[in-house]
Amino acid sequence: MIVVLTGAPGAGKGTQADLLAAREGYRKLSTGDALRKHVKAGTEIGRLAGAVMERGELVSDDLLFRILSEELGTIPTSETVLLDGYPRNLAQAEALDTLKASHPVRAAVLLDVPRSELVSRLSGRRVCGSCGASFHVKEQPPRVEGICDKCSGKLGQRPDDNPGSVAVRLDVFEKTTRPILDYYRNKGVFREVVGTGDPESVYRQLNSAIKGK
Ligand code: AMP
Repeated sequence: MIVVLTGAPGAGKGTQADLLAAREGYRKLSTGDALRKHVKAGTEIGRLAGAVMERGELVSDDLLFRILSEELGTIPTSETVLLDGYPRNLAQAEALDTLKASHPVRAAVLLDVPRSELVSRLSGRRVCGSCGASFHVKEQPPRVEGICDKCSGKLGQRPDDNPGSVAVRLDVFEKTTRPILDYYRNKGVFREVVGTGDPESVYRQLNSAIKGK
């Protein structure tokens, strides 16, 4: 079964999906993480996607569906998959539905955060180059500046967290991704959670929303 976790960049989808995976046993599938792995490994997909990602634009639907199918193929269908970052437009939502015999969408949950907060979260975000853990220079600083608390890896900015790409990514969410909310509303599986405030309280609300409580 699939739970679509949607929301603008910086809404906290990845962080919350990690918590849900660790505590509830869900499987996290992030298309952004999968793409970044391809870029790091220098694969053909990585070469095609890297520059597009850096500008904050969307990578092609065909490539994304290839990645989605590959990644889903490694997860037993008995597991609940938290889909972080897919679908990002209506065509992708429809493509996901073609897999519904084995991967029906049980819920689509929006993590809602105002744009001004998203900008400050993304501009202050620092990510570990080794394990991918995420910090914030003000809200969640590492114990030692520039060093990951978890694995002592080096922290840096994601190439698409620069002001120009952040603006593009937020606009893409509003114009291209937001229409999928109505798509899931019409299917009766849409839910909404306010993504600001204490992460533990966001977690509790999100967990209830996923379980349909
Ligand atoms: P994320 O880590 O989810 O913010 O994704 C980082 C970047 O990867 C996005 O800005 C896009 O360039 C690309 N990407 C991730 N998921 C998708 C998707 N479903 N469709 C198109 N591009 C995607």
